[in-house]
Amino acid sequence: MGCIHNQPASERFETVNGIIIEGDASRVLATLRRIKNSMLVWEAVGYERFHPEEDWIFETKSGRSCPRCLSLNGRVYPGDEVARIFPNHVPMSPTEVSARLHRNCGCRLRWINIKEMLQSRLHRESSVVR
Ligand SMILES: [Zn+2]
Ligand SMILES: [Zn+2]
Repeated sequence: MGCIHNQPASERFETVNGIIIEGDASRVLATLRRIKNSMLVWEAVGYERFHPEEDWIFETKSGRSCPRCLSLNGRVYPGDEVARIFPNHVPMSPTEVSARLHRNCGCRLRWINIKEMLQSRLHRESSVVR
C-alpha cells in the first residue's frame, strides 16, 4: 500500500499506482472504494488490455542485452503496438510484461501512464453517474 501523510484537516493518500487522493478521511475512503469498484467492473466486462491510449516503455535488463534490445531501450509504445510488435510477451503483473523479443530476452515493457488513464476513466465514469 501507499503511505499516508497526515495533515491538520485533510489526508493525503497515494495508491500503489501513484494516484494521489486528498481530502478528509471519509473522502479518501470513498475514492478508494470507487477505484476498487471501477477495477472490478473493468475486470468483469473484460477490460481490453493494450489499449491504444496506454504508454508502455521498453526496458532492457541492465548491461546484459543484445544490440537489438539495447536499441529499443527507453522506447515508448502505444498499448496496441505492444501486442503487435511483441507477440510472445508474457504478463508479469497488470502493469508489466516480459517482452520476449527473442530467446533469453530478459527485457520488459512497463505501463507508465496508468495513473493518468485511471484518473481520466474515473472522471468519465463519475460524470456519467451524476
Ligand atoms: Zn535482445
Ligand atoms: Zn531483450
